[in-house]
Amino acid sequence: MLPKSFMQAKYIIDTIEEYGHEAYFVGGCVRDVLLNRPIRDIDITTSAPPAIIQTIFPKVIPVGIEHGTVIVRHKNESYEVTTFRVDGTYTDQRHPDSVQFINQLDEDLKRRDFTINALAMDKNGKVIDLFSGMTDLNNKLIRTVGNGVERFTEDPLRIIRALRFSSQLGFAIEKKTLKAMKLVMPQIENIAVERITNEMEKLFRGDSINTGLHYLKETKVYKYLPIMLKYPYIVAEIPKEIKPLHSFGQVIALFHYIERQIPVIAWIKAWKCSNETKHEAHQLTQALTQYEETGLSRWLVYQLDTQFYDGFANLTSILFSENPVRKQDIEKIAKELPIRSKRDLAVNGHDLIQMFPRAEKGPWLQQTLTQLEKKVVEGHLVNKKFSLKEWITCNPPEIN
Ligand code: ATP
Ligand code: MG
Repeated sequence: MLPKSFMQAKYIIDTIEEYGHEAYFVGGCVRDVLLNRPIRDIDITTSAPPAIIQTIFPKVIPVGIEHGTVIVRHKNESYEVTTFRVDGTYTDQRHPDSVQFINQLDEDLKRRDFTINALAMDKNGKVIDLFSGMTDLNNKLIRTVGNGVERFTEDPLRIIRALRFSSQLGFAIEKKTLKAMKLVMPQIENIAVERITNEMEKLFRGDSINTGLHYLKETKVYKYLPIMLKYPYIVAEIPKEIKPLHSFGQVIALFHYIERQIPVIAWIKAWKCSNETKHEAHQLTQALTQYEETGLSRWLVYQLDTQFYDGFANLTSILFSENPVRKQDIEKIAKELPIRSKRDLAVNGHDLIQMFPRAEKGPWLQQTLTQLEKKVVEGHLVNKKFSLKEWITCNPPEIN
């Protein structure tokens, strides 16, 4: 029987078969469905070349057509449909030199990284398992398809992927696979950082993060990762209370907290993170530092974006496990804040200029506004024009 979560996608396979080609569910979705885990995206592998897929379905997005991958849209869902393929040799260890499309499921499964990821399922729910992936699923084992040393040498990212899957699934890494990882790991330095970051983000997010970190420490893979290679001790200093970190911004804030010598921006650059991650890491770092100094103050809550409440609460439960902050504590304070942003302040730059008409514009303007902002947020001043102006008159800014 086809699992329920594949029912809607069956249409894609039926249609491809009507046109005389083979098609199967494949990879992570089959693994997760067999484990009864929520599935993320449904991947389909087929003997039909991309050009055929484009003619048989009305809505096709050619996302990676050179690798034989297109996205088929059906009933508001996206399905990644990839033509059976066998990768060419990997000379620069980044991109396969060539991808040949072939007409066999076997070859397609053979190029996949781990036995649990090399399972396919037909439209009737029959599992195609060429490498004892089902046994490994039952035994909770991560094992390479074929010779580990060869497979990791072909693409050293698979070493980090093994750690990532151990963290997501709580699986052990099979002995020979683990040995091969240790042997090949110096080659991690040859792979693109973005690919590493992507996998490490998933590792830190994993439900079984402690398993993942156990293998990260045991293999010493961190000796080949950006920044960690220079400061190897920071991995050992990750608190025992660690829980899944749902974003890389949280990961960076945690490491920065562990070793303040390494600025947040150094992490961002070395791991080639996005501007969103940069903003998040800065926000969380600022909140953690303030929390350490003054506890959960109104000023802290005021400065923290709503979207980072969860992340901040999570980090305090790891770093201050005796005294963690709960999200509802943050929300309660946020609700009672007299203002939400500088714009809500009862005086603005114009008011200040009017008060000091002979003063030149300069940093004093912003500084004074920030002072007022903090006083209002902390409840030391009422957010009314007259009371703010009165305070300024008594505490005139230093204008120079
Ligand atoms: P997730 O749930 O995180 O998406 P996934 O197993 O789907 O997990 P992906 O990175 O999306 O992982 O890859 C999809 C499938 O493609 C894998 O299950 C595996 O079969 C294959 N694959 C991906 N990357 C590699 C790689 N570097 N080497 C070999 N096979 C790979
Ligand atoms: Mg996937």
